[in-house]
Amino acid sequence: MTEGIRSGTAVGSFWAEEERCGGRAVALPSWLLTTSNEEVAATVARLYGGQSRSRDRQQDLFELTLDNDAIAVNVDGPEAVVNRLVLQQVEEHAPIHVCDGFNFLQPMDNAGDPCGCPESVFDRKAAARSGRGPKPDARLAFRLAAAPDLVIFHLTSSTWEFSDSLSAAVAGMERGDNGAQMTISLQRKAVTTRSGMAVSYVRPILSVIQQEFAAPGQLRLAA
Ligand SMILES: [Zn+2]
Repeated sequence: MTEGIRSGTAVGSFWAEEERCGGRAVALPSWLLTTSNEEVAATVARLYGGQSRSRDRQQDLFELTLDNDAIAVNVDGPEAVVNRLVLQQVEEHAPIHVCDGFNFLQPMDNAGDPCGCPESVFDRKAAARSGRGPKPDARLAFRLAAAPDLVIFHLTSSTWEFSDSLSAAVAGMERGDNGAQMTISLQRKAVTTRSGMAVSYVRPILSVIQQEFAAPGQLRLAA
Protein backbone atom coordinates (compact mmCIF):
# COMPACT_ATOMS: atom_id res chain seq x y z
CA MET A 1 0.00 0.00 0.00
CA THR A 2 2.96 2.31 0.50
CA GLU A 3 4.33 1.32 -2.87
CA GLY A 4 7.76 2.79 -3.39
CA ILE A 5 8.53 3.31 0.28
CA ARG A 6 9.60 0.28 2.26
CA SER A 7 7.60 0.36 5.44
CA GLY A 8 9.33 -0.36 8.69
CA THR A 9 12.64 1.17 7.66
CA ALA A 10 12.04 4.69 8.95
CA VAL A 11 12.88 5.45 12.55
CA GLY A 12 11.98 9.10 12.50
CA SER A 13 9.17 11.21 11.07
CA PHE A 14 8.95 14.90 10.25
CA TRP A 15 5.50 16.45 10.52
CA ALA A 16 4.20 19.79 9.27
CA GLU A 17 0.63 19.06 10.28
CA GLU A 18 -1.10 16.78 12.73
CA GLU A 19 -4.50 15.23 12.98
CA ARG A 20 -6.82 16.65 15.60
CA CYS A 21 -10.05 15.07 16.76
CA GLY A 22 -12.48 14.55 13.90
CA GLY A 23 -9.59 13.61 11.59
CA ARG A 24 -8.95 17.22 10.53
CA ALA A 25 -5.29 17.96 9.68
CA VAL A 26 -4.01 21.15 11.33
CA ALA A 27 -0.80 22.89 10.22
CA LEU A 28 1.96 23.08 12.82
CA PRO A 29 3.95 26.32 13.39
CA SER A 30 7.29 24.49 13.02
CA TRP A 31 8.65 21.08 12.11
CA LEU A 32 7.78 18.32 14.55
CA LEU A 33 10.11 15.33 14.74
CA THR A 34 8.85 12.11 16.28
CA THR A 35 11.07 9.12 16.94
CA SER A 36 11.31 6.26 19.39
CA ASN A 37 15.10 6.36 19.16
CA GLU A 38 16.76 8.60 21.77
CA GLU A 39 20.03 8.90 19.83
CA VAL A 40 18.17 10.07 16.71
CA ALA A 41 16.29 12.69 18.77
CA ALA A 42 19.56 13.94 20.31
CA THR A 43 21.33 14.18 16.94
CA VAL A 44 18.47 16.07 15.27
CA ALA A 45 18.23 18.46 18.25
CA ARG A 46 21.98 19.12 18.03
CA LEU A 47 21.84 19.75 14.26
CA TYR A 48 18.71 21.90 14.02
CA GLY A 49 17.91 23.05 17.54
CA GLY A 50 14.77 21.74 19.16
CA GLN A 51 12.61 21.74 22.22
CA SER A 52 11.02 18.55 23.40
CA ARG A 53 7.26 18.57 23.38
CA SER A 54 5.68 16.29 25.89
CA ARG A 55 2.53 14.34 25.35
CA ASP A 56 1.15 12.03 28.00
CA ARG A 57 -0.04 9.25 25.76
CA GLN A 58 2.82 7.68 23.82
CA GLN A 59 5.42 7.82 26.56
CA ASP A 60 7.91 5.93 24.45
CA LEU A 61 7.95 8.58 21.71
CA PHE A 62 10.39 11.51 21.60
CA GLU A 63 8.76 14.63 20.17
CA LEU A 64 10.87 17.61 19.18
CA THR A 65 9.75 20.98 17.87
CA LEU A 66 12.57 22.14 15.60
CA ASP A 67 14.00 25.66 15.39
CA ASN A 68 15.09 25.39 11.72
CA ASP A 69 12.54 25.73 8.94
CA ALA A 70 14.83 24.52 6.14
CA ILE A 71 16.50 21.11 6.30
CA ALA A 72 18.85 19.74 3.64
CA VAL A 73 18.02 16.14 2.74
CA ASN A 74 19.23 13.41 0.40
CA VAL A 75 16.56 11.58 -1.59
CA ASP A 76 17.72 8.30 -3.14
CA GLY A 77 15.41 8.33 -6.18
CA PRO A 78 11.80 8.29 -7.41
CA GLU A 79 11.17 5.12 -5.36
CA ALA A 80 11.50 7.27 -2.20
CA VAL A 81 8.27 9.06 -3.10
CA VAL A 82 4.58 8.15 -2.86
CA ASN A 83 2.28 10.80 -4.27
CA ARG A 84 -1.37 9.98 -4.76
CA LEU A 85 -4.88 11.21 -4.01
CA VAL A 86 -6.93 9.37 -1.42
CA LEU A 87 -10.49 9.66 -0.15
CA GLN A 88 -11.02 7.85 3.16
CA GLN A 89 -14.24 6.52 4.53
CA VAL A 90 -14.80 8.79 7.50
CA GLU A 91 -15.58 6.19 10.13
CA GLU A 92 -13.58 3.20 9.02
CA HIS A 93 -10.48 5.02 7.74
CA ALA A 94 -10.61 2.71 4.74
CA PRO A 95 -9.66 4.27 1.38
CA ILE A 96 -12.57 4.38 -1.04
CA HIS A 97 -10.85 6.28 -3.87
CA VAL A 98 -7.09 6.03 -4.53
CA CYS A 99 -5.86 7.65 -7.74
CA ASP A 100 -3.23 9.80 -9.43
CA GLY A 101 -5.81 12.44 -10.37
CA PHE A 102 -6.64 10.70 -13.65
CA ASN A 103 -6.72 6.93 -13.11
CA PHE A 104 -7.36 4.60 -10.19
CA LEU A 105 -4.25 3.17 -8.49
CA GLN A 106 -6.28 0.85 -6.22
CA PRO A 107 -7.99 -1.58 -5.93
CA MET A 108 -5.90 -3.64 -8.32
CA ASP A 109 -9.01 -4.74 -10.26
CA ASN A 110 -9.69 -1.11 -11.22
CA ALA A 111 -6.09 0.11 -11.48
CA GLY A 112 -5.60 2.11 -14.65
CA ASP A 113 -9.31 2.84 -15.15
CA PRO A 114 -10.34 6.51 -15.36
CA CYS A 115 -11.25 7.64 -11.83
CA GLY A 116 -13.53 10.55 -12.72
CA CYS A 117 -11.67 13.26 -10.78
CA PRO A 118 -12.16 16.74 -12.28
CA GLU A 119 -9.41 17.95 -14.58
CA SER A 120 -9.03 21.38 -13.05
CA VAL A 121 -6.98 21.70 -9.89
CA PHE A 122 -9.47 24.25 -8.58
CA ASP A 123 -12.35 21.75 -8.90
CA ARG A 124 -10.25 18.98 -7.35
CA LYS A 125 -9.49 21.13 -4.32
CA ALA A 126 -13.14 22.11 -3.97
CA ALA A 127 -14.22 18.46 -4.14
CA ALA A 128 -11.63 17.49 -1.51
CA ARG A 129 -12.68 20.35 0.79
CA SER A 130 -16.29 19.27 0.68
CA GLY A 131 -15.37 15.65 1.37
CA ARG A 132 -16.56 14.43 -2.04
CA GLY A 133 -13.17 14.08 -3.67
CA PRO A 134 -9.76 12.69 -2.67
CA LYS A 135 -6.98 14.81 -1.15
CA PRO A 136 -3.20 14.37 -1.41
CA ASP A 137 -1.41 11.58 0.39
CA ALA A 138 2.17 12.69 -0.25
CA ARG A 139 5.08 10.82 1.34
CA LEU A 140 8.82 11.20 1.12
CA ALA A 141 11.61 8.99 2.50
CA PHE A 142 14.94 10.75 2.97
CA ARG A 143 18.24 10.98 4.84
CA LEU A 144 19.57 14.09 6.49
CA ALA A 145 22.32 15.65 4.35
CA ALA A 146 24.09 16.64 7.60
CA ALA A 147 24.01 13.04 8.91
CA PRO A 148 23.42 10.73 5.94
CA ASP A 149 24.33 7.56 7.85
CA LEU A 150 21.89 8.19 10.69
CA VAL A 151 18.56 6.67 9.59
CA ILE A 152 15.78 7.03 7.04
CA PHE A 153 13.13 9.60 7.88
CA HIS A 154 9.60 9.91 6.55
CA LEU A 155 7.54 12.98 5.85
CA THR A 156 3.82 12.66 5.13
CA SER A 157 1.59 15.56 4.16
CA SER A 158 -1.94 16.08 2.85
CA THR A 159 -1.27 19.57 1.45
CA TRP A 160 -1.53 20.31 -2.27
CA GLU A 161 1.64 22.41 -2.08
CA PHE A 162 3.75 19.50 -0.86
CA SER A 163 2.16 17.14 -3.38
CA ASP A 164 2.95 19.57 -6.22
CA SER A 165 6.55 20.00 -5.07
CA LEU A 166 6.95 16.18 -4.91
CA SER A 167 5.64 15.83 -8.49
CA ALA A 168 8.21 18.35 -9.72
CA ALA A 169 11.03 16.65 -7.80
CA VAL A 170 10.12 13.18 -9.10
CA ALA A 171 10.02 14.43 -12.69
CA GLY A 172 13.57 15.74 -12.20
CA MET A 173 14.82 12.54 -10.60
CA GLU A 174 13.37 10.35 -13.35
CA ARG A 175 15.65 12.12 -15.79
CA GLY A 176 18.73 11.43 -13.66
CA ASP A 177 20.41 8.22 -12.58
CA ASN A 178 21.04 8.96 -8.94
CA GLY A 179 19.20 10.67 -6.16
CA ALA A 180 19.18 14.32 -5.41
CA GLN A 181 20.00 16.76 -2.69
CA MET A 182 16.89 18.68 -1.71
CA THR A 183 15.53 20.93 0.97
CA ILE A 184 12.36 20.34 2.92
CA SER A 185 11.16 23.66 4.21
CA LEU A 186 8.19 25.36 5.76
CA GLN A 187 6.71 28.09 3.62
CA ARG A 188 5.04 30.84 5.60
CA LYS A 189 2.38 32.97 3.95
CA ALA A 190 0.19 35.75 5.22
CA VAL A 191 -3.10 36.37 3.42
CA THR A 192 -6.02 38.68 4.01
CA THR A 193 -9.45 37.13 3.75
CA ARG A 194 -12.37 38.78 1.92
CA SER A 195 -13.68 39.95 5.27
CA GLY A 196 -10.38 41.71 5.94
CA MET A 197 -9.04 39.26 8.49
CA ALA A 198 -5.27 38.60 8.40
CA VAL A 199 -4.51 34.89 8.36
CA SER A 200 -1.10 33.26 8.24
CA TYR A 201 -0.48 29.70 7.23
CA VAL A 202 2.43 27.30 7.03
CA ARG A 203 2.94 24.67 4.33
CA PRO A 204 5.74 22.15 3.81
CA ILE A 205 7.45 22.16 0.43
CA LEU A 206 10.27 20.20 -1.14
CA SER A 207 12.73 21.89 -3.44
CA VAL A 208 15.55 20.39 -5.45
CA ILE A 209 18.99 21.85 -4.83
CA GLN A 210 21.15 19.57 -6.87
CA GLN A 211 20.34 16.60 -9.03
CA GLU A 212 22.42 13.45 -9.07
CA PHE A 213 24.49 13.69 -5.93
CA ALA A 214 26.93 10.82 -5.55
CA ALA A 215 25.31 8.40 -3.11
CA PRO A 216 27.50 7.09 -0.25
CA GLY A 217 29.59 4.22 -1.54
CA GLN A 218 29.52 5.53 -5.10
CA LEU A 219 32.21 8.12 -4.53
CA ARG A 220 35.30 7.20 -6.49
CA LEU A 221 38.63 8.96 -6.51
CA ALA A 222 39.88 9.80 -9.96
CA ALA A 223 42.81 7.56 -10.92
ZN1 LIG B 1 -9.45 10.29 -8.75
